[in-house]
Amino acid sequence: MERASAHLLQNYRQQPVVVERGLGARVWDVDGKSYLDLLGGIATCALGHCHPEVVAAVKAQADKLWHISNVFYSLPQIELAEKLTSASGLERAFFCNSGAEANEALFKLARKVSKDRGHPGRFEIICFENSFHGRTLATVAATGQPKYHQGFEPLPSGFLHVPYGDLEAVRGAVTAKTAAVIVEPIQGEGGVKVAPAGFLKGLRSLCDELGLLLLIDEVQTGMGRTGEIFAYQHAGILPDAISLAKALGNGLPIGAMLCREELGKSLKSGSHGSTFGGNLLAATAANVAFSIIRQPETLAMVRAKGEHLFQAARKLQARYPERASAVRGRGLLMGVEVVDAAAVVNRCREGGMLVNLAGEKTVRFAPPFTVTTEELDEGMRIFEQALSA
Ligand code: PLP
Repeated sequence: MERASAHLLQNYRQQPVVVERGLGARVWDVDGKSYLDLLGGIATCALGHCHPEVVAAVKAQADKLWHISNVFYSLPQIELAEKLTSASGLERAFFCNSGAEANEALFKLARKVSKDRGHPGRFEIICFENSFHGRTLATVAATGQPKYHQGFEPLPSGFLHVPYGDLEAVRGAVTAKTAAVIVEPIQGEGGVKVAPAGFLKGLRSLCDELGLLLLIDEVQTGMGRTGEIFAYQHAGILPDAISLAKALGNGLPIGAMLCREELGKSLKSGSHGSTFGGNLLAATAANVAFSIIRQPETLAMVRAKGEHLFQAARKLQARYPERASAVRGRGLLMGVEVVDAAAVVNRCREGGMLVNLAGEKTVRFAPPFTVTTEELDEGMRIFEQALSA
């Protein structure tokens, strides 16, 4: 940690643990101390650390070929595109390396589609207050939390923010310049805040009525996390395009932008790209992970374990009403709003469990889908000790 503070950019609020290895829902530090990882990487290792099938596939691929330019074809990437498009109902896939890059692809798509439709002045994207879309300049501009803007102004123009869940505010913000709306089905970094019932469906109708694109940021909620492969599927709608990352590669860096066939035509040869996007190692990990995640048994498991986790958390909330004021989320993405959340996170780690803060007041849980109910119970015991302390 001293070496880190001497040489690493001090841009993260790091917890004092040096993690060396992991298996399933557990990790071990360099001194051999074990921790229950109920943050699941950071909603990335959905099938747990070092899932044997993912490890075997990546090892085999590592012996064959790691990377080839995207000016050539590679089978893992094609196979992944087939899987994601068939599961999402969106016909075209573009691969990149992170959530922010996937959102950048959404923004470029929205602008280009407007131009191609003969509306060059339509470039604005309506975003939501308290949202989080990434750390590049455009995704910071889209993010609806001023703390991420400070010091980086002037931000790229064309992003405005309205209250999350407020359809009339969206309607009121639409002008002749509006191209699209971008929304998270659950605001993860913003404190695990779930869109109110009917909101996504309402947004779909509004976008249809006004000729806007509906872009859904599924970076944190996608890949089965909420009990459906993509969280928008709970709402029974089809967006125009979505972004994916985090759990897509089960911990290897890969992001994706999926869009409707007609829109995909706007990003022609040369208009967008990424050197490493969809490389063979990451795409191989994603293929294996996705084959497991899309099985109905896996999604049923997420729902059942999520139910178990939420019930336990609600019991704690009832026991400590003055300390835990809310339990929010869906499937295996849960936020518990607590008094002195940073101290609770620290106590959890000291008690042997890794979680983190989402926003300033919420403790976030995003356990691997492979977590056992006994591990969830163990985690909730540690959480209770932290809360009561
Ligand atoms: N969008 C959402 C909803 C996220 O939660 C995140 C990361 O937490 C991002 C985008 C940015 O992803 P990345 O850190 O991979 O760029």
